[in-house]
Amino acid sequence: MENDFYDFIIIGAGVAGLTAAQYASRANLSALVIDPISQGGQVEQIIELENYPGIYPAISGFDFIKAMTEQTLSFGAKIIKDSVISIDKPNDKYLVKTKEKEFESHTLLIATGAFRRQLNVPGENEFVGHGVSYCATCDGPFFKNRRIAVIGGGDAACDEATYLATLSDKVTLIHRKGQLRAQKGIAERVLRNPNITVMFNSIVKEIKGDTVVKSLLLENSKTHEESNFETDGVFVFIGMIPRSELVENLPKDEAGYIITNEKMETKFPGMYVAGDIRSKSFRQIVTACADGAIAANSARSYISELNEEVYK
Ligand code: NDP
Repeated sequence: MENDFYDFIIIGAGVAGLTAAQYASRANLSALVIDPISQGGQVEQIIELENYPGIYPAISGFDFIKAMTEQTLSFGAKIIKDSVISIDKPNDKYLVKTKEKEFESHTLLIATGAFRRQLNVPGENEFVGHGVSYCATCDGPFFKNRRIAVIGGGDAACDEATYLATLSDKVTLIHRKGQLRAQKGIAERVLRNPNITVMFNSIVKEIKGDTVVKSLLLENSKTHEESNFETDGVFVFIGMIPRSELVENLPKDEAGYIITNEKMETKFPGMYVAGDIRSKSFRQIVTACADGAIAANSARSYISELNEEVYK
């Protein structure tokens, strides 16, 4: 039995993948998007998306991705709900095996994203969207002038605490160790900021509240004493986990993100990487969309070169 063939297979239906599918379809490539939950990625969690240019007034992440999915389908791309289990290139085509089927393509985009590492403490999942957040740019404005706890001691926690300190003078950075791991300049900005208090050697044991977050149960890592810390919001920045298990053979940076060139190309001709899984300096919806558009354009050029070879 012959496998289904597409010019461009996209793994991941977040904003990078969907943008790539739109650009590919509009360039007359047949495009298939495969995702186990069929649409969304991290964007679905955003309560009010107010920093995507042109979307005004703000809409929910859910409505944004729903419109983007419909737009993608309207251009002729296909989206299926399935899990990719392996990718391979046994001949001149990529072979993508999912739980249900096998597909072939000339080009392939990995847009599987990354997810924020969680604290995994009681109350965390329960209060997501009700005081617990993993995105300061998205949710920070809801905590203007209120008590904000930021968890973590790396670059992200320090950067985001600095941003949150522009919205409130009651920001507390809570870190499990006795010193920050962040780069010196970034850490010093936090330590000097009058709106930020740093609590070292403090481990979050539980997030407590009623309908919204009210406090954190902390344990001092030296004395093991427990204390209750009152707060209105908790921003967790304890590292990201790129979803790169399908492409373990691609070069990565120190944090595990996949390295591409500016055309989103990898070392394998016809294979591209876009969005939050890619090594880069700023992870936002707008930068993920840009990656997706660039990847589709690179796939289009690659396929037109292949076609020129065929017709020579
Ligand atoms: P990092 O992995 O650099 O830091 C994670 C922080 O969270 C560490 O301080 C770590 O503590 C702490 N942590 C990890 N697990 C837990 C846990 N279960 N409970 C409590 N604390 C925990 O991640 P970042 O997200 O900060 O950064 C990711 C990458 O992105 C890095 O390469 C970073 O350099 C880069 N980045 C760069 C920025 C910039 O240059 N402006 C901005 C943001 C990110 P411990 O120190 O004890 O291990």
